[in-house]
Amino acid sequence: MDIKEIYEKFDQIGCLTFATIDDGYPETRIAHLFAYDEEGLYFRTMTVKPFYRQITETGKMSICGMSASPNVVHAEATGLPIFEPGFTMKATGDVREISFEELLKKENKSQGFAMGIKDIRRYRDLRAFVMDRFRGEYYDYDFDLATRDHKIIRESFSFNDFPTKFRGMKINEKCIGCNQCKEQCDVKLFKAIEIDENGGYFINNNHCDVCGDCTLVCPVGAIDSYRE
Ligand code: SF4
Ligand code: SF4
Repeated sequence: MDIKEIYEKFDQIGCLTFATIDDGYPETRIAHLFAYDEEGLYFRTMTVKPFYRQITETGKMSICGMSASPNVVHAEATGLPIFEPGFTMKATGDVREISFEELLKKENKSQGFAMGIKDIRRYRDLRAFVMDRFRGEYYDYDFDLATRDHKIIRESFSFNDFPTKFRGMKINEKCIGCNQCKEQCDVKLFKAIEIDENGGYFINNNHCDVCGDCTLVCPVGAIDSYRE
């Protein structure tokens, strides 16, 4: 995903959870991004808030959000929530404050920048920040298969060479091709386990939900998870 697609997905969600660290503990609040360009994703906060102190002290932040339906419906039989098709987005990385003069140079770039600048003129304690190096993930769900034949599409992204980590599942060389993992994954409707032209089993991590069920049925311990 490029920066435009990343911003547009976050913008579609609107209000996001912004996470920082305070005295070694995670702390969250709801805020939103107001613009993007080739330097990153922009947001603003006031200097009097703990949020401002935490991001200037650490220079690190994580954001996430979900395009949730406004109506939460629970299934009668199970009591579990029913989710309409939607998506979540998350990104973690480095942030830096940008001066008002620097921001002013971007005023004509987009409506978002123009609106952000207007707001800072109204609320003089506001400061602008840019998340300029990050990694993240787009997670598209359709748990009831309303639009396709599998539940999940996941896509990782990295902006400005932020190091990425593989966090999915892999089948290793111990595999004996018994098909039990594929049956388990197919019955859960993730359909993430595929067979290559040589009959080798592999996991398509764009469809994998990292639920772990395949590891429980594999008779030879041939499925590895990458949690680090
Ligand atoms: S972890 Fe779950 S979703 Fe992923 S391949 Fe295994 S059974 Fe399928
Ligand atoms: S369950 Fe294990 S051995 Fe059987 S196909 Fe899957 S990875 Fe291979």
